[in-house]
Amino acid sequence: MRLTGLHLLLTYKCTSECEHCFVWGSPRQSGVMNLDKLRVILQQARELDELEWIFFEGGEPFLYYPILLRGVQMATAMGFHVGIVSNAYWATTLADALIWLKPFAELIEDLTLSSDRYHYDESNHNLVINAVAAAGELRIPTGIIRVAQPEQTNAESTIGQPPSGESAVMYRGRASKRLAGRALRKPWKTFTTCLHEDLRDPGRAHLDPFGNLHICQGISIGNVFTLPLKEICENYYAEDHPICGPLLKGGPAALAKEFNLRPQETCADACQLCYETRLALRERFPNILLPDQMYAG
Ligand code: SF4
Repeated sequence: MRLTGLHLLLTYKCTSECEHCFVWGSPRQSGVMNLDKLRVILQQARELDELEWIFFEGGEPFLYYPILLRGVQMATAMGFHVGIVSNAYWATTLADALIWLKPFAELIEDLTLSSDRYHYDESNHNLVINAVAAAGELRIPTGIIRVAQPEQTNAESTIGQPPSGESAVMYRGRASKRLAGRALRKPWKTFTTCLHEDLRDPGRAHLDPFGNLHICQGISIGNVFTLPLKEICENYYAEDHPICGPLLKGGPAALAKEFNLRPQETCADACQLCYETRLALRERFPNILLPDQMYAG
């Protein structure tokens, strides 16, 4: 497996508790990557020849501002392209946003901001506007993530297709519990492919504060504090992985069948079936289907 992007979950903690969050981000969540761990992780990342990008995300990475800044400085000094994903809670005014972002100018090459009705309503969506304006003044490229509401992808004419500029909900994590009831549903046996991740060679993976390397959130392929990142990547064969193998053969439906599980008759999408099946398999695969933060339901 060759990674070109490594997404560091600096923390599972977040200022918000969005219904669509796959990592169950919340002010009550625990798990933070401290500076010592970050140093070890970046040293290991350096050993991956094809790795180009390091993203800092969460949870909300600006909650641990000094560690985020130090991490960005270390990663850029190593020659990586660096990006941050944030909900912009800190951009209370343009002037404040400039103060928060200025130390990152000329270091980060991407600031991706969440801007949708899960994060903001009419009263506070100016946070993202301030953050984008400040980033513009500092010449930091920005991107926006907008996730559609379930009903927006339910219309028969546009089934599964979110409005332009928005992405559809993936019903895993908290979305599986809080949003799937608002989506159109299909029989579980029809979910025979994973549409969102290339489980053989994903190009990017997420690494959490406990060292778990996730091929998809909640499916670990190793822990960098027990085996170096390079070895985890070299040793990974999707077909031999007890969760990814069945997913590759026939999607979440094959995963449920492989372990003789009886899922609920209908699901909102493949991710809901996958997530609920994995929840049922956690005791069987405690070192793969983790940490608790990803399954906080
Ligand atoms: S089907 Fe499973 S592995 Fe694929 S993207 Fe959805 S949750 Fe992840």
